[in-house]
Amino acid sequence: MKHLIYADNAATTQLDIEAFEAMKPYLLQEYGNASQPYSFARQPKKAIQEARETIASCIGALPEEVFFTSGGTESDNWAIKGIAFQNYSHRGTITTAFEHHAVLHACEAITRLKYPVDYLWPDKNGTITPDTLRQLITDQTLLVSIMYANNEIGSIQPIKELCAVAHSQGALFHTDAVQAVGHINIDVKELGVDMLSASAHKFNGAKGVGFLFIRKGTPISVYSDGGRQEKGFRAGTENVAGIVSMAVALKHNVDTLEKNRQHILGLEKQLIEGLYTREIAFIRNGGESTLPGIISLSFPNANGETILHRLDLMGIAVSTGSACNSEITEISHVLRAIRLDESFAKGTIRISLGKNNTKDDVDAILVGLKKILK
Ligand code: PLP
Repeated sequence: MKHLIYADNAATTQLDIEAFEAMKPYLLQEYGNASQPYSFARQPKKAIQEARETIASCIGALPEEVFFTSGGTESDNWAIKGIAFQNYSHRGTITTAFEHHAVLHACEAITRLKYPVDYLWPDKNGTITPDTLRQLITDQTLLVSIMYANNEIGSIQPIKELCAVAHSQGALFHTDAVQAVGHINIDVKELGVDMLSASAHKFNGAKGVGFLFIRKGTPISVYSDGGRQEKGFRAGTENVAGIVSMAVALKHNVDTLEKNRQHILGLEKQLIEGLYTREIAFIRNGGESTLPGIISLSFPNANGETILHRLDLMGIAVSTGSACNSEITEISHVLRAIRLDESFAKGTIRISLGKNNTKDDVDAILVGLKKILK
């Protein structure tokens, strides 16, 4: 296989070797079902509890407030539907027009069941201001769900302030922090949020595992009926190895957060400066406050899909903000939500750099872009 330059870390990340090593015993030797009463179940049960404690300590939660799920999609679905279905008076949900589809489609599902949903629109930088929320929220709002950082353009939202607005109207607050957890400091107590979604494969853990933080006392309905796992709220045999990998990866990323941030910001600077010195015309989306490493670039009169495929031929993996469907190029809902001019939106790619990327990777991306956009 030719050398891959992986610059799509917002899509998924490489499993940390420590996380992989920590999972192995639970796949090969300690494979007992954690719900069984015999001694062979003791170690997996202990590992799950320790993972819960580790994860809780990484986000400022109590262990009993961490509920394991199959990933970000499930966590988002649980938060949105679990609050709506517990609410017999059909009070409303407010979310944003540029959420991940896990939130948007969950909101469409509750709308079909006559639970009202309203949408906030971000400004051109991809930010939802507390004032925007103040204009829409009423005492009939039950839940506000706003993502911590956008997965396409990286813009970070003022979650603490938004959460305070929601609480001032008696509403609950959920944040989809799938892109943020493990990459920036998150403290659920400090933020005040009632629920927070996370996914292990976005921070160098295994795929197919995540968690939902649910503040103690939050009125939420059961996600899946069956056994007594997750205190009866999310039935199903636990993915012990995945859970263990998630705790190890999160702890590792949190412990090295500042070092990783500095490294990634250095690569970002190299990329942006390299575009200027090569005289490649572009704009960067997402405003001033973005997640380290998520770089949404729009090139005028270019085609994002074509850039993606040509970079792919050079062994470079990036993502796009538009999807080409034979003759029409469809612009993503995120780029539409920030009202990006069509001629730029069509030429948008997302480069997402992670802790394992190097300066050589960035050089290769710049060489590739220059060739394609010359
Ligand atoms: N929410 C956001 C913001 C995401 O970026 C993603 C994945 O891309 C998800 C939710 C879904 O997470 P998962 O892939 O773990 O289901």
